[in-house]
Amino acid sequence: MKNIRKYFLAGLAMAALTTACSTKKQEQKETANEEKKDQVVNVYTHRHYASDQQLFDTFTKETGIKVNVVNASADELIHKLEMEGDKSPADVLITVDGGRLYRAKEKGLLKAISSEKLNEQIPAHYRDKDGYWFGLTYRARVIAYAKDRVKPEELSTYEDLTNSKWRKRLITRSSSQEYNQALLASIIEHSGEEKAKEWARGIVENFARDPKGGDRDQIKAVAAGVADIAIVNTYYLGKLLNSKSPEEVKAGQSVGVFFPNQEDRGTHVNISGIGVTAHAPHEENAVRFIEFLSGVEAQNMFAGVNFEYPVNPKADHVDLLDSWGSFKTDPIDFDALGKHNQEAVMIFDEVGWK
Ligand code: FE
Repeated sequence: MKNIRKYFLAGLAMAALTTACSTKKQEQKETANEEKKDQVVNVYTHRHYASDQQLFDTFTKETGIKVNVVNASADELIHKLEMEGDKSPADVLITVDGGRLYRAKEKGLLKAISSEKLNEQIPAHYRDKDGYWFGLTYRARVIAYAKDRVKPEELSTYEDLTNSKWRKRLITRSSSQEYNQALLASIIEHSGEEKAKEWARGIVENFARDPKGGDRDQIKAVAAGVADIAIVNTYYLGKLLNSKSPEEVKAGQSVGVFFPNQEDRGTHVNISGIGVTAHAPHEENAVRFIEFLSGVEAQNMFAGVNFEYPVNPKADHVDLLDSWGSFKTDPIDFDALGKHNQEAVMIFDEVGWK
């Protein structure tokens, strides 16, 4: 009996100890989970390139920080951020247009960041002076021409594309997307609204067809003889030339790249960039993420895999980009692309650029 009691007491003591242990274990586990849960960065992005996932995976591998991605247009993401307010899970916003970054900053959706590393990796022209956004790559909007039908000597400026010699020979994508909006905004900034309207009207008159499809489709259409010249971003040509489809490679090979306005203001460029959101729950991770994306390793991937121009001057040279040649870029303040966006959209409507 005495023994039984002894065992019973010992059992009780054991049980209490086990409970204490498991409570402690439970707590430890919860803390670990909490920490693990914090090792994320929530990304709202308008970038629509398969190669980005490769970049995000590399970041996770190097830092242990998981990248959660929400993909939509910048306009939709900006709206989402506004609706979510301080409850937003987003840590960063990535756009393919400096104008949209300007808009997000104006709406109070971004937070100023100060980082020595970012200032060192990104030249001042490609980041916001107050630290609200940072350019990751820049993109040149050029004239792609059919090598067998157009001589580069016939090309000169964006303005010259309204010349009647290009009647029914020119194509580009619709005005609903950022790239042409930014190009027109740059013309408004340089030449004023009236001249910009004249330009847009002249371009529409020279269209070989109503705008449809993306930049890749314009290049393919030039290759197919639908038009002789197209206004496109260079990296889409890079994608065609590196496509798995032999027809796409052939289409890419049949066009040349011409950088307009080299004798005056330079070729229009826009940025794809990123900003930390105003209520970022994981601000530290967000900053690390931007530091990674503007570091040499990621910049080499932007250039080598997606054929964009890296903002970091220390990035390696990429043969394909070099083959298109160096060029003078329009030194416009990227804020201007945002400031004139609404005017640009209204002009497109007025002149019937679909
Ligand atoms: Fe694009």
